[in-house]
Amino acid sequence: MVNNVDLEKALESFQKKYTVNEETGCWEWSGALGNGGYGQFGIPLIDGTYVSSSAHKFAYELKNGVVPKGLVIRHKCHRRNCVNPDHLSVGTNADNQMDRKKRVFKEKEQYEKDLAWLMGITGIKTHTKAHRLALRLLRRTISDSELKTIVDAARLI
Ligand SMILES: [Zn+2]
Repeated sequence: MVNNVDLEKALESFQKKYTVNEETGCWEWSGALGNGGYGQFGIPLIDGTYVSSSAHKFAYELKNGVVPKGLVIRHKCHRRNCVNPDHLSVGTNADNQMDRKKRVFKEKEQYEKDLAWLMGITGIKTHTKAHRLALRLLRRTISDSELKTIVDAARLI
């Protein structure tokens, strides 16, 4: 944390800039997002000026103290705009990369399962359409009518 922070003002300002997601427990940043989707926070200083920081870094350091040199703050919830200090931990960059690899692998595995399931029950032969639907199923952005089509097809089996 930088020196000379106007802590009272900083806290007051910080608390106005996130909403709690009751489902996930994430504190979703409603202020500006910077590169990579991380929350940006202007920390007020005692002299009346501001210094820009990542919002999650501010939240983490407020609770745990300064991040040790060489370590990075990681989101255990994998949501970059989350500023809940309980969802943050420190680790190395290598930890971060390993985590990401595991996540991508798991997504791919789920996608393959969704795709096989979709092609099996709908009998969709065109690979591209099934691909598209499987991807959206994985991302949970499929529409109700599309899902109904799939379910109806499944009933016919
Ligand atoms: Zn979170």
